[in-house]
Amino acid sequence: MSPRHRPPEALLATLSASRGRSDRLTHTEHLPARQARYAPWPEAIRPEIVASALALGVAQPWAHQAEAMNLAKTGQTVVLATGTASGKSLGYLAPVLSDLLDGTEARNGRGATALYLAPTKALAADQRRRAAELAPTRVRAALYDGDTPPEEREWVRQYASYVLTNPDMLHRGILPAHPRWASFLKTLKYVVVDECHTYRGVFGSHVAQVLRRLRRLCARYGSTPTFLLASATTADPAATAQRLTGLPAVAVTEDCSPRGPLVFGLWEPPLTENVGEHGAPVRRTATSEAAYLLTELVENNTRTVVFVRSRRAAELVALQTQDQLGRPLADRVAAYRGGYLAEERRALERDLHSGRLLGLASTSALELGVDVSGLDAVLMAGYPGTRASLWQQAGRAGREAQGALAILIARDDPLDTYLVHHPEALFDTPVEATVLDPDNPHILAPHLCAAAAELPLGESDLDLFGPSAGALLPILERRGLLRRRGDGTWYWTRRDRAVDGVDLRGSGGSPVQIVEAETGRLLGTVDASAAHTAVHEGAVHLHQGRTYLVRDLDLEHSVALVEPADPPYTTAARDITSISVLSTDTTVDWGEARLSFGSVEVVNQVVGYLRKRISTGEILGESKLDLPPRTLRTRAVWWTVTEDQLLDADIPFDQLPGAAHAAEHASIGLLPLFATCDRWDIGGVSVPLHPDTQLPTVFVYDGHSGGAGFAERGFQRAAQWLTATRDAIAACECERGCPSCVQSPKCGNGNDPLDKAAAVRLLDILLAGAPGGEPADAPGGTAGDVAGGAQEE
Ligand SMILES: [Zn+2]
Ligand SMILES: [Zn+2]
Repeated sequence: MSPRHRPPEALLATLSASRGRSDRLTHTEHLPARQARYAPWPEAIRPEIVASALALGVAQPWAHQAEAMNLAKTGQTVVLATGTASGKSLGYLAPVLSDLLDGTEARNGRGATALYLAPTKALAADQRRRAAELAPTRVRAALYDGDTPPEEREWVRQYASYVLTNPDMLHRGILPAHPRWASFLKTLKYVVVDECHTYRGVFGSHVAQVLRRLRRLCARYGSTPTFLLASATTADPAATAQRLTGLPAVAVTEDCSPRGPLVFGLWEPPLTENVGEHGAPVRRTATSEAAYLLTELVENNTRTVVFVRSRRAAELVALQTQDQLGRPLADRVAAYRGGYLAEERRALERDLHSGRLLGLASTSALELGVDVSGLDAVLMAGYPGTRASLWQQAGRAGREAQGALAILIARDDPLDTYLVHHPEALFDTPVEATVLDPDNPHILAPHLCAAAAELPLGESDLDLFGPSAGALLPILERRGLLRRRGDGTWYWTRRDRAVDGVDLRGSGGSPVQIVEAETGRLLGTVDASAAHTAVHEGAVHLHQGRTYLVRDLDLEHSVALVEPADPPYTTAARDITSISVLSTDTTVDWGEARLSFGSVEVVNQVVGYLRKRISTGEILGESKLDLPPRTLRTRAVWWTVTEDQLLDADIPFDQLPGAAHAAEHASIGLLPLFATCDRWDIGGVSVPLHPDTQLPTVFVYDGHSGGAGFAERGFQRAAQWLTATRDAIAACECERGCPSCVQSPKCGNGNDPLDKAAAVRLLDILLAGAPGGEPADAPGGTAGDVAGGAQEE
């Protein structure tokens, strides 16, 4: 049932030949095939493992795999950062399983153990299967996660030599119960950290501290495990690995696996006849355009996955494609996303492999190691946020030798618009570095408590936890969390578990459950930080192709009650935000202008929502909401200009609010190009006369308590970031501002006022004093329609 395969050039020609589509393809990149380079098996790899690999069709490792194996066997922390399907698993599994096999010759059969960490349960399960394929059965590999039945857990602790879990379980289940894991930890030889580029921002910072807690306990039990990390290609993986583990790391980055040729198209959806806010021209949405392209690819019998940024978008693409195809082809298109039950996901995977399914719309869940290989085409509805993710998603196409097609479809926002017109920013620029900030005191403090609860903390432990640890301990004592003993050690004083206060995924607060009012059925959950914007009363919610309206959001019990409905609109929350400066860390002068980085307090309140027509984005109406304000203490970058500068830039006071607001919006849109964040991870506020600076001021802040490193990266790369911002606004073809330049989908002010022309003049005068122009090289982020913690004014 495998579909016929057409050459990617022919497919792309078909897609862009359709009526009125010729100008939508802004760029075509031909990526040549790459030849494989092999190396001999390292001598230290056990012959049993070599034999299993041979049985699986691997006669010899690729050179990068062999290099990683050799480094691992010397006890070096190593990060293997190569592309999708480059065999990273074999690179770390061969040395790990060899040592575990040595360990089976110990008297108790468990002379060596290893721990494997994956960001998701699905990936850990997948990796257990791979380990089982390579290892003789006397190496006992076992999953240990929330789904492991209690009666199996004791067996895993006592007998398993290769334990596969996730950071949440390590944090909540394993470390606090370390005495029961004593024999496992005592012989711990390796810790594998898979997909380590996913540990970024707040989540990454938490995981970095969990790994430090693990290292501390291992040291007490007398082991010093070697850390082996696997990553998508990122800039400076060694530095990221070191920040994550706290250990000096060596990177292996030269990908020696073969690759088929890839044709990569950049695609800009057309302007529609519809108008958006304030008469702005609007483009067809990326999801709608993806549905058109998917329809045609399915009609051409092309096995295609569409990657989208949100669950909602996955549902929309599948629905619209099915509509356009009609029966019977509609049955061969589906949506896939993280929220489905395991058996639903497996069924979809199987159908895609068999070719029964030709089109699948998916969130990035597939990115995380679930095996969907050998696709003919990959569509990306919107830039996935980082070049690392872009290449991971594109790599799903044509993993075998045959050529394949990948298309990036721009969303109607500043970043995507910039990228489809600046292909060099995608194809000639190294992938970005992963941003994380484990020293954030909001993140570190609860891990110090957890560590003290695991074993009292001594002075000698402080180095491990970083420079801010020493100053935090007395503060935690004043809060009644820790107490200092006569011998100078700190210990946890409370009856509740220290780890229960920390959610690694960073949202804070318990997630809100989405429940169908009629049946009481649980449809899914949404983070507490996003609940006000995502499931407020009156919000539209999609689940498995069905539309629901939120009838009631009960904040006290963290429940949103929904009912089936079929409104012709989506909803967008409106909010108001104020900001004050708590302290300034660093300031640089750009001539008369000034750029600062420091701590701020943001007060945000969702006050209403708009209804927008699904097909066009047209505004149908607005409703008020009565939700409490939320306060966020975080880190921000901000800039000011003087009144003389405004005079020089010919910006009268009545144009200033629109100029600053427009510059703020576009700069939020472009920051993801420089920090590995999402547009929804950050927020901004612009004020014509801010009480703390006494000057016109534009703030951009991290949307998570204590910050996540994004605003800091913006401060460090300010000249390049704000130059790209200025260029994106100036280059936009619209007249007075549109979603591709200065309008923002999450503006709490209804995108009013905005002054596009004055914003360019304002940024010009700001940048006139900026340090001289290195070219903008950096890193990527995301546009998304998933509401995160941050809200922008
Ligand atoms: Zn525009
Ligand atoms: Zn705004």
